[in-house]
Amino acid sequence: MAEGARLDPWEPALRLEYDKLFKYFGVKPFGEVLDRVRRVFGEPHYLMRRGVIFAHRDFDVVLDAYERGERVAVVTGFMPSGRFHVGHMMVVEQLKYYQKLGFKLFIVLADAEAYAVRKLDRREIIDVALNEYVANMIALGLDLSRNVTIYFQTNYEREYYRLIQMLSRKVSMAEMRAIYGELEPAKVVAALTQAADILHPQLEAFGGYKYIVVPVGAEQDPHLRLTRDLADRFERELGLRRPASTYHKLVSGLDGLKMSSSRPDYAIFLTDPPEVAARKLRRALTGGRASVEEQRRLGGVPERCVVYELYVYFLVRDDRELARVYEECRGGRLLCGPDKDYAVELLVKFLEEHQRKLERARNLVERFVEPPKF
Ligand code: SF4
Repeated sequence: MAEGARLDPWEPALRLEYDKLFKYFGVKPFGEVLDRVRRVFGEPHYLMRRGVIFAHRDFDVVLDAYERGERVAVVTGFMPSGRFHVGHMMVVEQLKYYQKLGFKLFIVLADAEAYAVRKLDRREIIDVALNEYVANMIALGLDLSRNVTIYFQTNYEREYYRLIQMLSRKVSMAEMRAIYGELEPAKVVAALTQAADILHPQLEAFGGYKYIVVPVGAEQDPHLRLTRDLADRFERELGLRRPASTYHKLVSGLDGLKMSSSRPDYAIFLTDPPEVAARKLRRALTGGRASVEEQRRLGGVPERCVVYELYVYFLVRDDRELARVYEECRGGRLLCGPDKDYAVELLVKFLEEHQRKLERARNLVERFVEPPKF
């Protein structure tokens, strides 16, 4: 593998070079299947239309299966190691889309991984999983009562644990190092657990064979590569098949680098008091020019603007409105000051409404997922 071509799913770079996925790992551009998505699913998800979901592996196989009326499922996971931010919200938005289409959802609360790899306290992890992750999913409108299995990695069915143990037989440390680089035992177990998270819905104990798609951030591809290899090796023995995957770009932090719970000043959390989020957003990096005169003359650069990115990812759902902002910015008719006022207004409105729903959602979480006993 070329030097620098490795992705680290646990410590993603502050800036990801998405081209690497095409160049070194053979993922396909999502644009190639967009027309088929339109024909088979109807309207593509707005993140698909806007190029935020930019790559896939075997998504055409899932489209074929859906068209034939076969069983389809989505598997996704959240590591409850920090507060829920707008990057996590993008995954929930995709889950809502697939749920409407009739996909079964498997949602993993990766508490074992948060404990072993992030080295966090068990009780804190469970509390964050319930009150940040599950509560926000409900408040965002995901219906956890409809065809959804949501579970903690440390509190699930015995066939799932058996699968983790079986998977360990058909992979070598040399292969794992080639995919992940040097890794300690905690990460070996975490990677095999993730493979079981993705593959177990195909087992008889979980309803039998179904086609699976895994929507992930681009930095998670190493897990998909390992899982797909393992599926091939267990095809005869367990009837497992390769999962498909889609890749979305990561939301930038407000300074233009990665958004992460570990850099709270540069992240928008869904539990931020609106005035705090507004203050953070006002400091965000824009694609504006050095002076008003220059901006009127040359136009702004929305492609390099975090505020515009937030419009694309969630603040503006209407494509025509998004196009208007883009054109006015490029044409120098929109200035960053007034545009930030507009973005702040949209963000505050969203957070106020969301946080009202969150209050109610917090009372519902244990109805849908059973927390581990310790
Ligand atoms: S006008 Fe708006 S979209 Fe354009 S660079 Fe400034 S903040 Fe970004």
